[in-house]
Amino acid sequence: MNKTSIIALALFCFNLGIAQEIKNPKDTEIYEPVPPTVQPYGQNGVPSDAVVLFDGSNLEEWINSKDKSTPSWILNKDDKSMTIQRGQDQKNATIQTKKSFGSVQLHIEWKSPTKINGKGQQRGNSGVFLQGRYEIQILDNNNNDTYVNGQVASVYKQSVPLVKASVPMGEWNSYDIIYHAPEFKGKEIVKPASVTVLHNGVLVQDHFIIKGPTRYIGLPSYTPHGKGSIKLQDHGNPVSYRNIWVREIK
Ligand code: MG
Repeated sequence: MNKTSIIALALFCFNLGIAQEIKNPKDTEIYEPVPPTVQPYGQNGVPSDAVVLFDGSNLEEWINSKDKSTPSWILNKDDKSMTIQRGQDQKNATIQTKKSFGSVQLHIEWKSPTKINGKGQQRGNSGVFLQGRYEIQILDNNNNDTYVNGQVASVYKQSVPLVKASVPMGEWNSYDIIYHAPEFKGKEIVKPASVTVLHNGVLVQDHFIIKGPTRYIGLPSYTPHGKGSIKLQDHGNPVSYRNIWVREIK
């Protein structure tokens, strides 16, 4: 039995009230396994073990969700961003990662269009879909109210954000998302998905237990799935994105 196991056993016994009193501080110290080292501000300020999904140079990590074609979005080399734009066929321009993910830490930055066009859900609407199913809402909520479980940083139609932490229209927002994928056994859900979101560094979703895939109409319910793409929604508004990276949680 290694030392970690001995300490775990001791703590287990302690919880049962049957432990011998521990008098040596070293008896509760763990030295291995040693966690791997990550450079938090690696290349371009991104953690060294992250998967870069967009750094402003190209859209090679992305495809159109509808027909898997090359995205029609505009690449803006000047500010290393990309902006939602439909192609000539006007088909929906929602994009998704080529790679599939389970549980992740996701960093993403986004900016509302500066030209005000529409109100409520029609103003600066987009969204981040985790595993292609669970939407963290993106919306220009500045001087623009809507139902609160559909406002910016909501888990759409499921969880109202704790606060609204938007920057003014035209400035860059950030989301830092900690997402744990659901677990299934056969057709049964054994552990629902959960999500924590920081909006511009402010806690807005605190380990919310997701009720199922996002639905516009009706109540959500789970169906089993494996890893999935991260989707960025085209809702008809030219929202921009930049600096997107992800770290898989194993
Ligand atoms: Mg949306």
